[in-house]
Amino acid sequence: MDVVFTIIGIITFVAIIITAIILSITSSKKNAERNRINSLIYNDSVYIKELDKINNKYDFEVVSKTFKIKRYFNDVRNFRNFNPNLCLAEFMISNSESIINIIKGAKYQKEQYPKYLEEYNNIKSGVTSDDSSKIGVSLEEYQTFEKDYYSRNLKKFKINIKFKVSWFLENSARKDKNKKIYNLDEASDIFYAYYRQDLDGFTGTHADFIKKERALLTESLRYDILRRDGFRCQICGATAKDGVKLHVDHIIPVSKGGKTEPQNLRTLCDRCNLGKSNKIE
Ligand SMILES: [Zn+2]
Repeated sequence: MDVVFTIIGIITFVAIIITAIILSITSSKKNAERNRINSLIYNDSVYIKELDKINNKYDFEVVSKTFKIKRYFNDVRNFRNFNPNLCLAEFMISNSESIINIIKGAKYQKEQYPKYLEEYNNIKSGVTSDDSSKIGVSLEEYQTFEKDYYSRNLKKFKINIKFKVSWFLENSARKDKNKKIYNLDEASDIFYAYYRQDLDGFTGTHADFIKKERALLTESLRYDILRRDGFRCQICGATAKDGVKLHVDHIIPVSKGGKTEPQNLRTLCDRCNLGKSNKIE
């Protein structure tokens, strides 16, 4: 009896293997046939050619990036007075070339995408049964391939750029932290509020900009800033009584796009002003 069962077992096993081989040959033949038909339709379809043409014309990308900006403080007052908008502006201005490219790219893609979608939606298949029978496929097969190709080849774009400003109090007695997150629109508003130059006029007018902004710092404006700041250095707190000379300083230097306006001006003593030099803190 055992021998009989063994023989049945072997026969069953061989039959399964043979069936599997036959099935895989059939399916690879089917796939080959499928591919052949698809490439015939692909080469014949006016609709697909039109879609490829539109897709080659436009270039969109998916960008996901978060810029992280961190500042650390030991002094509670400085921590509380921290202005994340100004910090973000400083960061963006000191990286202005790459930031301008990012903003320009996002803006361009946002403008172009609806135009692309309109062209994409306007393509209509005009295939007839004559066309499909010419290459030996059914009209239904032809249209199904076109539809699949069309929906698989819709270009997508997504720009998800964020700026995250975090600031920390690292006082030995206490720890605290705060953060603010900006999307690209909010960040570019801040950027242009501080960096009032036109996007496209950026390269040509830099020297003129510096000249103009320096000239705007008049004696009367200087006095207004000194008075606003209580005739006191905004970094060390020194006054003229301490033997220092007070200056009005651009927080974001004019050379980096800083404007001559009260929110970008502060009183500094000569010692602090010298230490600050031309760099953004
Ligand atoms: Zn000072």
